[in-house]
Amino acid sequence: MEPVGSVTLLKDITILEEQRLLLTEWAEKDGLTGLYNRQTFIDRVEVELACATEASHLLYFDIDHFKKINDTYGHRAGDLVLSELGALLTRWTEPKSITGRFGGEEFAVFSSSIDTKQARLRAEEFRKLVAQHLFVHEELELHVTISMGLASARTESFDQLYRLADTLLYQAKDEGRNRLCSGQDAGQSLQ
Ligand code: GH3
Ligand code: MG
Ligand code: MG
Repeated sequence: MEPVGSVTLLKDITILEEQRLLLTEWAEKDGLTGLYNRQTFIDRVEVELACATEASHLLYFDIDHFKKINDTYGHRAGDLVLSELGALLTRWTEPKSITGRFGGEEFAVFSSSIDTKQARLRAEEFRKLVAQHLFVHEELELHVTISMGLASARTESFDQLYRLADTLLYQAKDEGRNRLCSGQDAGQSLQ
């Protein structure tokens, strides 16, 4: 075999592998934040839930009055807030957690390696971090707050965790926003 031919073949395989990784990344990640998209997030969490023995936690949060940011400063300012919030979240979460952009301005973090009290403290820490952060867009300094629902349960069901987190998030909105509401699934005895 001609040596030059082997080099070409190896190069082709490398390019194909790079393209495959890029396609996987596009399919699994949200382009704006680099976090998992909704479907991949759910898939990954379900794998974790299937073998969880302790309580699992789903933190679900939504930017307060985000429409106002878009309406006042424009869609690009809104995009900047979303991508920067994604970066803050990535820096803040522990390596074992799973993070995703769940919808337009809704994010989710799943963790199972910490207890309920720790999960609450960590979530509250992130809420404060966001409230204190300055989001800068074209020399404008934007302040952003988030409302959070934290659901804890010993369960294999993503839907069960999600329903509770969603209810708690809307409770946080109702109670005035920029706050965390947490809860455990009824009938569960957790630490
Ligand atoms: P609340 O405090 O009740 O959550 O109010 P809100 O204004 O945040 O909620 P609402 O659901 O009314 O607004 C969400 C907005 O998010 C509406 C939509 O245009 C905007 N949005 C969704 N995805 C994107 C995006 O990718 N980029 C930008 N800039 N805006 C987005
Ligand atoms: Mg919102
Ligand atoms: Mg929303």
